[in-house]
Amino acid sequence: MPRKRIYELARELGMSTRDLILALEKLGMPGMSAFHMVSEEEAEVIRGVVLEKAEAQPPRPAQEKAPPPGKPRPPVVAVLGHIDHGKTTLLDRIRKTRVAAGEPGGITQSIGAYQAQVDGKLITFIDTPGHRAFTAMRARGAKATDIAVLVVAADDGVMAQTLEALDHIKAAGVPMIVAINKVDKPESKPEMVKQQLANLGYIPEDWGGNTIMVPISALTGQGVDELLEMILLVAELEGVSGDPEGALEAIIIESHLDPAKGPVVTAIVKNGTLRERDVVVAGTAWGRIRALLDHQGKRIPAAGPGTPVQILGLSEVPAAGEKLERVASPKEAEELVEKRREEEREKRLALRPRTTFDELIAAAQTKKLVLIIKAHSVGALEAVKLELSTIQAEGVELEILHAGVGQITESDVLLAVAESQGQPLILGFGVKVDPKAQKLAEQKGIPIRTYDIIYDLTLDVERALKRLLGPEFREVKVGEVEVLKVFNIAGVGKVAGCAVRAGRVVRGAKVRVLRRGEEVFVGEIASLKRFAEDVKEVREGYECGIRVRDFEDVREGDVLEVYVLEEVPV
Ligand code: GDP
Repeated sequence: MPRKRIYELARELGMSTRDLILALEKLGMPGMSAFHMVSEEEAEVIRGVVLEKAEAQPPRPAQEKAPPPGKPRPPVVAVLGHIDHGKTTLLDRIRKTRVAAGEPGGITQSIGAYQAQVDGKLITFIDTPGHRAFTAMRARGAKATDIAVLVVAADDGVMAQTLEALDHIKAAGVPMIVAINKVDKPESKPEMVKQQLANLGYIPEDWGGNTIMVPISALTGQGVDELLEMILLVAELEGVSGDPEGALEAIIIESHLDPAKGPVVTAIVKNGTLRERDVVVAGTAWGRIRALLDHQGKRIPAAGPGTPVQILGLSEVPAAGEKLERVASPKEAEELVEKRREEEREKRLALRPRTTFDELIAAAQTKKLVLIIKAHSVGALEAVKLELSTIQAEGVELEILHAGVGQITESDVLLAVAESQGQPLILGFGVKVDPKAQKLAEQKGIPIRTYDIIYDLTLDVERALKRLLGPEFREVKVGEVEVLKVFNIAGVGKVAGCAVRAGRVVRGAKVRVLRRGEEVFVGEIASLKRFAEDVKEVREGYECGIRVRDFEDVREGDVLEVYVLEEVPV
């Protein structure tokens, strides 16, 4: 019996998968996914009801519908995966087979991204594969990528960088499609890859999960069309869209200095339209756009949503991940750049003295600690994770964003920089820090610590968690006072005339009222006077007037113990 998936049925019915799922939900069949498999009979029933319903129901008046969030636009796709698993081969294959031939001799050099054509639709691929580039783009807060393709070679399976890539994709919150590559090889084991990924919690959709996995061969081209089709399907399901008339949203993905052309920058427009002659700012670079070139080196007057475009005319080379903004005039651009330079200077100054681990953590604005852990072996990593799982901390959250084997690298630091939910902390157990990673971490104010003893590591994490909670205070007794006489003062209340027997009494301090040794009230000193004067403090041997807030029962002979709060060092 042939079986069909919902998305295939949607295509047959000439409607979008999203619309079919919504229609089924309205017809009392909720919880359908694009990959839900139905039998031919079920498909027949669905076809019948959906078509019948469509005929029976006149089209709804337009005002009932929510305004569409722009139009569908080409999704922006990044390719990630372990070295040698075939990322470059895949990107090359798609480029060769799916990019319409330009003018002869036209395309000579990649601009960092290209657009593939699939069934009349476009997909924008970022040409620099790997999670380092992926996360560097994110480190400035911009979201360049809509969909990530994770390439896993079927002869090799899940490897260290596959795990890293998975964590980077998860941290970015971007939908993922797995391309199980090299299935042309006789020794390939696609099912093993599925099992490995399933063990990590990524259950293939044909096993009832929701991770799309497509077996492909980047070398022969087998399965690549299906992969492209899946990309378009995910884009549709995710509602990837942009409004050509909307506000400009564009992200720099590549930049370099060309000796002849000056700064050459590639941006991806995600919303709005970028035009020649626009005045733009990216970080501290600005300029009036001299020329826009498409991915085949052809000059274009404008670039709309989903389009990669090379830009000439900026004053300097901005970093990848920087947002490109349009401003009204060169003057406004210069002012914005000057403001940013000033902010950068201030940031640098503010960061410089705050170099210690404790100070960095104490400056955190969040109650969540996000760890990136590197250890010298899988066993050591497991041991660290196990120890950390025993830490109990109320009021603060602890998340392990990434745990991997090997030294601490730049890509770990980038992952930390891109973290926006919590305070990142990079921990190494029995490993070293790559000097480049160290430098980047210092620049960005990311704390890194390495340990040889697990106990020290967990102790530091506990300490960091406590710091995130904010300072802890304890009560310290500073003095004792005896009530000699009680005055009832009109409009004020009971005031106790006291003698300070020991230590001191401080205005605003906490008091415990003891009567014949028993505590009768705990409160706060509302006012403290010597003669008629308000004072801050009265020392041992002196007399004073004390009013205890909200306590009208103070009596002669009561003893007031005075406490102040003191910060507990962690
Ligand atoms: P990257 O490091 O992930 O970019 O990997 P590459 O694309 O450079 O590929 C590494 C090696 O695997 C190259 O020798 C490719 O020719 C080979 N390769 C890539 N894809 C396939 C495939 O589908 N089948 C086979 N047999 N080899 C492949």
